[in-house]
Amino acid sequence: MSLSGLEIFKKLPKTNCKKCGFPTCLAFAMQLAAGKVELEKCPDVSEEAKSELSEASQPPILKVEVGSGDQAFTVGEENVLFRHERTFINPNAFAVTIKDDMSKQDIEKMIKQAESLEYERVGQVLKIEGICIKNASGDGQKFKEAVETVADLTQKPLILVCEDPSVMEALAVSLKDRKPLLHAATVETVDQFIEIAKKTGCPVAVKGKDFDAVAQITEKMRAQKIKNLVIDIGQRDLKQDFFNQIALRSAAIKKKNRLFGYPTIVFADELAQDPLKETLAASIFVAKYASIITLSNASPQNIYPLMVFRQNIYTDPRQPMQAEEKVYAFGNPDANSPIMITTNFSLTYFIISGEIENSKIPSWLMVMNVEGQSVLTAWAAGKFIPELIAQYIKKSGIEEKTENRELIIPGYVAQLQGELEDELDGKWKVVVGPREAGEVPKFLKEYAAK
Ligand code: SF4
Repeated sequence: MSLSGLEIFKKLPKTNCKKCGFPTCLAFAMQLAAGKVELEKCPDVSEEAKSELSEASQPPILKVEVGSGDQAFTVGEENVLFRHERTFINPNAFAVTIKDDMSKQDIEKMIKQAESLEYERVGQVLKIEGICIKNASGDGQKFKEAVETVADLTQKPLILVCEDPSVMEALAVSLKDRKPLLHAATVETVDQFIEIAKKTGCPVAVKGKDFDAVAQITEKMRAQKIKNLVIDIGQRDLKQDFFNQIALRSAAIKKKNRLFGYPTIVFADELAQDPLKETLAASIFVAKYASIITLSNASPQNIYPLMVFRQNIYTDPRQPMQAEEKVYAFGNPDANSPIMITTNFSLTYFIISGEIENSKIPSWLMVMNVEGQSVLTAWAAGKFIPELIAQYIKKSGIEEKTENRELIIPGYVAQLQGELEDELDGKWKVVVGPREAGEVPKFLKEYAAK
């Protein structure tokens, strides 16, 4: 269990010096207990207290890294039950499942598909993070061969699913630099997995059929200072697993029970036979609260919706996604090329820029910083108004890049036209552009043909 605010307070200097930014040591202790500040904010805490309090200053769900190098992924580190309270920190990872009774050709095909599945959306790269290899055959040698095949084909982090500690030990030792997740230590095998974790430093999944079994294993692991853990409490039943994920997250965050304060894994590929139903099941656990979700296939039609959904769940609700304020050039624009302006709401920028590219008309796109708001919202908030747009145009450097002095404004703010021309001292002509992004290519083609 983590410490209460009062227990933390007893270990602080109690000088109320305010250097931490809080009026009293007690106020600081309360925030520390809630996981809202870092212990380092108090410069006067003793070394002894620091080591005693270090756990209290850790997030209620610990951070775990799977894999190594550029492709490693991080899960956990969460502080809240609901995204709107602050934000979720580390997006769940998706892993495609390979069974060791598959043929070598099928394994190669699956890895190739998983590797190629990569999309860029609103400035972020969406991809499959890991490969899960299951000992479906029950044969240790077959499992070893399948793992070696996969390890040669991809650098993506690996999740090894086999309950035989002796097979896992050999693989963990040979792959220890890749830091695979070892699934799974059970009540019966926890002692062997403790030794493997100590020897290799690999993260370990703990698998219990209920909360008592999970707590029994994590307690033993913690006593040996092994905290790189992922919990599997799956019954492979949608309703029960949904309940378990919520109960685990609540126990870790609300009750501050450290025995359940770890990322979790859900095997969506074992929850449904039909790929569409599997995608639906996986989406439930993207929202609540799986850290790693395994899938049976790498088909774009099943995985892309999950990736987009994940991206939305894991954006920070306090900060709209923003594009950089600057003048963007599309296709070597010259002195006669059209100049459009919009706001730096990321989605607006990416949609408009896509349509400009579709038009194949070389153009300038001026993106103005309005703290990530859309055109109409920014206008209503007084951030996308003639006075400020004129200031941006003057400082943007567009007048040095082109002799064109016609500015195309979004159709939704047509009412700015006259006032903006006045703010620009009559040196610019302001043209009203389309209201919808889809109309941009036609508009630009007609503009270029003038
Ligand atoms: S900096 Fe440390 S000693 Fe000073 S008020 Fe904050 S917690 Fe107390």
